[in-house]
Amino acid sequence: MTDRMPVLFVGHGCPLNAIEDNIFSREWSVVGKTLPKPRAILVVSAHWETAGTQVTAMARPATLYDFQGFPPALYEMRYPAPGEPELSRSIKKVISDPVIHLDFSWGLDHGAWSVLSRLFPKADIPVLQMSLDFDQPAAYHYELGKKLAYLREEGVLVLGSGNMVHNLRIMVREDTAFGWAREFDDELVGLIQSGEHQRLIDYPSLGENAPLAIPTPEHYLPLLYVLAMQKKDGKIRFFSDRITFGSVSMRSVLIV
Ligand code: ZN
Repeated sequence: MTDRMPVLFVGHGCPLNAIEDNIFSREWSVVGKTLPKPRAILVVSAHWETAGTQVTAMARPATLYDFQGFPPALYEMRYPAPGEPELSRSIKKVISDPVIHLDFSWGLDHGAWSVLSRLFPKADIPVLQMSLDFDQPAAYHYELGKKLAYLREEGVLVLGSGNMVHNLRIMVREDTAFGWAREFDDELVGLIQSGEHQRLIDYPSLGENAPLAIPTPEHYLPLLYVLAMQKKDGKIRFFSDRITFGSVSMRSVLIV
């Protein structure tokens, strides 16, 4: 038995963070060094949406290049962490509702490996991914997060990988922050700090900035899994708390 594992939400942003030396990649490396070594990692990434909830169950998950138009160096990246099929089967067994389907065809997408390659560069810890069921409302994801919380006591680190504010349609290729993005990011911080999870689940009712900040839910939902795993005495620390490209919040949350 290990001590309770922290839970982590990382704003992953651009895939280039995997190979560029910048303030985000550097900070992920620093945070990685402060984390206890988990026996396994479960990643909920914005980049894997499916019908139903799936968990990867292969022994050797492939490194997926689920993006286009980036420099060759990014396609040469490998994150050769093993899977842990036994853990995947046990999660399926422990959580009967909803039914968790075992997946043998996905792998590790860039939401997972761009961040993991900084947090745990040795790639020697088994990694599983869990998909986002695109048919389900936000409350489903929060409730599923609660059911997964037992993994913290079993030495499994749960990593949500997305972006709290994520609008690529109106982004600009500059390191800048739109006013509304900053405002909404601040509002989320307040709600996270005061533990107002219901309001975070009901994010469309957070006013006129909400549809700008969360035009589609996939980059936001991984945050709900992480918040759902917070214990009453849980302490919250924010890092990489910056907005870039105008409309992408890189803010990340560590809950211990
Ligand atoms: Zn993304």
